[in-house]
Amino acid sequence: MGQAEMATTLEGLEDALRGKLLRPEDEGYDEARAVWNGMVDRHPAAIARCESAADVLACVRFARASGMPLSVKAGGHQAAGKAVCDDGLVVDLGEMDAVRVDPDTRTARVEPGATLGQFDREAQTFGLATPAGVHSGTGVAGLTLGGGIGWLARTFGLASDNLVAADVVTADGELVYASEHEHPDLFWALRGGGGNFGIVTSFEFQMHPVGPEVLTVQAFHHFDDARDVLRAYREVMAEAPDELGCYPMIMNVPPVEGFPEELHGKPALALVGCYSGPVVEGEPVVARVVEIGEPFLEVVAPMPYATFQSSFDAGTPDGVRYYGKAHLLSELSDGAIDALLGVVDHLPGPFTMIFLESLGGAIARRPADATAWPHRQATFGFAVQAGWTEPADDEEQIAWVRRVHEAMAPHATGGVYVNYLDVDDGDRVAAAYGEHYRRLSEIKQRWDPDNLFRANHNVDPLVAART
Ligand SMILES: Cc1cc2nc3c(=O)[nH]c(=O)nc-3n(C[C@H](O)[C@H](O)[C@H](O)COP(=O)(O)OP(=O)(O)OC[C@H]3O[C@@H](n4cnc5c(N)ncnc54)[C@H](O)[C@@H]3O)c2cc1C
Repeated sequence: MGQAEMATTLEGLEDALRGKLLRPEDEGYDEARAVWNGMVDRHPAAIARCESAADVLACVRFARASGMPLSVKAGGHQAAGKAVCDDGLVVDLGEMDAVRVDPDTRTARVEPGATLGQFDREAQTFGLATPAGVHSGTGVAGLTLGGGIGWLARTFGLASDNLVAADVVTADGELVYASEHEHPDLFWALRGGGGNFGIVTSFEFQMHPVGPEVLTVQAFHHFDDARDVLRAYREVMAEAPDELGCYPMIMNVPPVEGFPEELHGKPALALVGCYSGPVVEGEPVVARVVEIGEPFLEVVAPMPYATFQSSFDAGTPDGVRYYGKAHLLSELSDGAIDALLGVVDHLPGPFTMIFLESLGGAIARRPADATAWPHRQATFGFAVQAGWTEPADDEEQIAWVRRVHEAMAPHATGGVYVNYLDVDDGDRVAAAYGEHYRRLSEIKQRWDPDNLFRANHNVDPLVAART
């Protein structure tokens, strides 16, 4: 029995770790407890800056032995901020950010602290990528475990569809390798079931040739034209090849050169996306997007994929106050468009946006029970997110998001993507796991019966037993 297994006090844990253990009085503590959403302000008893799987094992064994609650932090991008707990131990994986790409086998091993930007940077050196999200600061870990939707999803599926194996520290303090062949139940649950089943210390992904340049499009429309533009967009997407990922985004026009001055700060509808196949093949496809309506600004250009992946980082800076809600849609019906435009006439808050994600394609072609992600038949994701700076505005901003969300509810599937749940969405967790909730509960009962990993959108280990 090693020292790590014996630690029942924070002092013992500190001795067992290779990385630092930060306490409230330590320099760096406040920085380490901060997450993307500035609304989250939690004070853990300690933060373990893990440097290896052995450190993660030490933390899990300590939490079991001491009874101290734990939470797991990777990129810190979850809106609900469950990565940080009050009065518990944060297992901080941020230092474990190595990425190793094997161009021969087209696979990559990624440590859980890596961001999408770090992953793309390494992989694009070899002209490779795997589907991820649309913000370079998001953590590979949380994104993949919840599903992982991004520009490449229609072509290659979700990030989690491209996971081929994972090293997992389990609740009983062991390190196991999970794949289709080893612990297949655990491997199934990791792909959509979030952080409920263990702490992943290494992800192995299937990679695909992408770029390095992809054809990108950004077409900005007057908000008054939004109804016609969304209807035409829907028709274009219905016929588009999988390689086109294109999102409508409602945002305030940034006060920067290139945008007409009279529109600065006013809402606009942008169609934004990329064609992930060869640039020349994308030209006629992207042309159909640009032909929609009469954009007041359009940019069609080949761009390094990794650059495109960080194009929208500035719109959602770290530490601002955020509140968001999401739906999934089986179709972008006229009713849905009318409901949206009936309730939105402005965007409060400087970092506020509404967007639709184009799904379908490779996501929908996988069997419904291939992984734990249950929403394969949804054709669009919908999200409304307010971002502001003043605590005094909290109530007004939150009320606005709820109004928009409620107006869209009659047009949605009732399901929701787990990675877009906010702090007060506890009653929607079952809808996030959908028809797979019972099976996830059974697997949770097998791998974490005492619910050690509960600082997350929690799968109740007793649901299956109760029903
Ligand atoms: C600006 C922004 C843009 C986004 N864009 C997209 C997008 O395009 N597509 C998309 O799909 N999602 C997107 N998301 C949502 C994102 O996928 C989730 O917020 C995800 O949880 C972030 O992962 P993280 O590692 O950064 O988060 P963290 O907050 O560090 O972790 C979230 C949770 O994941 C679990 N977890 C993290 N690491 C591990 C691990 N190694 N082992 C076990 N459990 C772990 C824990 O339960 C933790 O509480 C976006 C979020 C933001 C803030």
